[in-house]
Amino acid sequence: MDMVTSYFCKTQIQDVNTMMDSIISDPRKDPLGAMMLDYLKGNQQAFVEVESSTLEMWEMPGKTMFRSYAEMDELERQALALCRGRILDVGAGSGCHSLYLQQQGLDVDALDISPGCIRVMELQQVKNIVHQNLFSLSEKKYDTILMLMNGLGICGSLDGCNLFLQFVKIILEDGGQVIAESTVLEVPDEEALDFEEEEDEYQGQTEFVMRYGDIVSDSFDWIYLDFATLETLVTFNGLECELLATDTAGKYLVQIF
Ligand code: SAH
Repeated sequence: MDMVTSYFCKTQIQDVNTMMDSIISDPRKDPLGAMMLDYLKGNQQAFVEVESSTLEMWEMPGKTMFRSYAEMDELERQALALCRGRILDVGAGSGCHSLYLQQQGLDVDALDISPGCIRVMELQQVKNIVHQNLFSLSEKKYDTILMLMNGLGICGSLDGCNLFLQFVKIILEDGGQVIAESTVLEVPDEEALDFEEEEDEYQGQTEFVMRYGDIVSDSFDWIYLDFATLETLVTFNGLECELLATDTAGKYLVQIF
């Protein structure tokens, strides 16, 4: 059994409730929200530091989170153009995509687990804000589930992706679609790695900690999925997917239906 297929057997949709089902309840563990609130208050230089188990440390600036339509890249614009019906913006952040969609007269729910992001979206006049974890949603069904800025990463692991795809079948309307981004990571030079890689660990699997001053997140899993692996998982779950576009940095846009 190959590595990807072996993951299929591990988890079932019942496990969703024990996995990632909470919101961030402590503002001292919400660096992204705190940074974005500061940015809105006028600190235009604000940024969050992102530490990763597999990638170099980087900075996520407030300015990037609050990008306007004109500042969005081609993949994002293409994604927005495909949104239809009742839309769920997963991990909405500052609400930049939701704001654009509501301005187009579309019906969009902006979902986030971060209390700071929720406050930011209120200040930004995002209309329908949902403070919940994706995996705790159950009441509504959607025609479009939007997951931008490497949004599939929220699934956290191959297992998490498998669960996500089972879950999608519950919250998608008939004929609905997921419009999502992920990135194919370059295979790193083994010599350059300064950590012990677990045998068999999927290469896009990573762990992040975010930091803004003394506000530090719990560490959380994030996954970068190559398209072939995603397609295998999608097919396994009785769904289909189409690669819509790629950019030069390895990021791609996919439709799952
Ligand atoms: N989509 C936005 C923000 C991306 S950052 C943009 O493109 O700018 C990822 C966001 O996902 C963060 O705001 C984080 O709080 C949120 N998030 C992470 N895990 C989540 C989950 N399980 N359910 C809902 N939101 C989540």
